[in-house]
Amino acid sequence: MITTSKNSGKTKEFSWKNLFDVLSPGKSKNKEFAIITYLFMAFFICLIGYFIYFQAFKSEEIISSAYNPRLSSFADHVVRGDIISSDGAVLATTELKEDGSQQRVYPYNDMFAHAVGYASNGNYGVESTENFSLMRSHSFFLLQILNDIRDEKNQGDTVVTTLDYDVQEAAYEALGNQRGAVVAIEVETGKILGMVSKPDFDPNTIESNWDSIIENTDSAPLLNRATQGMYPPGSTFKIVTALEYIREQGLEADYHFDCEGEVTVNGTTIHCYKNAVHGELNLESAFTHSCNTAFSSIGLELNVTKWQNLASQMLFNESLPVRLDYKQSQFVLSVDDEEGKVMQTAIGQGDTQVSPLHMAMISAAIANDGVMMEAYVVDSVIRDNGSTVKAYKPSEYGSIMSKDEARSLQSMMEEVVNSGTGTALSGQSYKAAGKTGSAEFGTIKGQSHAWFVGYGSKESYNDIAIAVIVENGGAGSSTAAPIAKRVFDVYFNQD
Ligand SMILES: [Zn+2]
Repeated sequence: MITTSKNSGKTKEFSWKNLFDVLSPGKSKNKEFAIITYLFMAFFICLIGYFIYFQAFKSEEIISSAYNPRLSSFADHVVRGDIISSDGAVLATTELKEDGSQQRVYPYNDMFAHAVGYASNGNYGVESTENFSLMRSHSFFLLQILNDIRDEKNQGDTVVTTLDYDVQEAAYEALGNQRGAVVAIEVETGKILGMVSKPDFDPNTIESNWDSIIENTDSAPLLNRATQGMYPPGSTFKIVTALEYIREQGLEADYHFDCEGEVTVNGTTIHCYKNAVHGELNLESAFTHSCNTAFSSIGLELNVTKWQNLASQMLFNESLPVRLDYKQSQFVLSVDDEEGKVMQTAIGQGDTQVSPLHMAMISAAIANDGVMMEAYVVDSVIRDNGSTVKAYKPSEYGSIMSKDEARSLQSMMEEVVNSGTGTALSGQSYKAAGKTGSAEFGTIKGQSHAWFVGYGSKESYNDIAIAVIVENGGAGSSTAAPIAKRVFDVYFNQD
């Protein structure tokens, strides 16, 4: 039988009435007790408040910190979750050793190294950005209780990336042993389908090889060249120069130029690639054949202040809408710069520096009629039964050019593939468009990085944008465009 105690008011038993009596200001004899009670209650409220705040806002940040020494205690209760591709290939998993310790395993070795990253030596890539999700378990709660009783670990949640296994493999193999990067993005969503950087490393052995890897400053294998590599854009920058010309002169501007293979202004001479003489050109044919003489002359006609504004609108010197680590691209030109610098800048040979990721995002925006999407590599987090814990949605950054301007660039980029420097991609079951570049670097004449940036489309497939750079790869048309073709071939022939 359940009984309730009766409070007569004469005993020292707790009752709400007693508490209010104690706290009431009239009872001076209980003042000390009242102060202590107030302090105690204030302390208690603060504690609850901090606990709620920590759970809601701080726990993810602290748990995610690679330098949190208490991470190992999470590992005592949870088996670090898997990272998988969008089509289900396991890119990172955890094997439990007999002594209960965990071994992180990357079944595809180097292939996803920079995108997936590593979970030791400070965490990197998805292993870093999704550390919190990977170390938490949303298994069925009764199973979790059972596991706790049995002293067994719960399975951590799985992170599903946007990476497409076949696209990644194609990019990885096409780049081969060359230094450089490939980034492929789904145009309408901003999902990163492939991201390769070389030289690379094997995340399976990164801990034991750490010292030799970080000492290798020449090839810098840990550097993700796709997001953090800074390169002169070379002729891929003619996209920006052409857009600025269109913006200043109008979409129907009547442009004519007679290329004699080189032009000299105030002591600066600009040559066309391999000293080609392009003859009579309009804007489209100058773009299609990547005529340096025409474009450096266009540069001299542009309003530098407006050009600077366009560059910032295209997110040079600005933050990129991406959910991963990256380096900010630079457009460096001032109204006081002399003609030589202006001419060089117009053909992507000034002090402008850009990442492959940024060029892929610009290409995707052009294909998307001017609208740039936020680029991301993590699609969702799922629990062990496959249901969704957290899903990332595509997010629109905004228009970086008008629809008409994008359509103009689309038509010029299509012509590059049809009849210009991008014919390596012509005549396929899909339609491709793009711009090549051969970006000179260093002081040795004739050395250049090979670029291709552009996109492909085919009925019943989502459009895909790409940026390829091969360091010291020579001509973009012969080195980089074929790599883009191999990625498109695989992507557009998927079932
Ligand atoms: Zn020319």
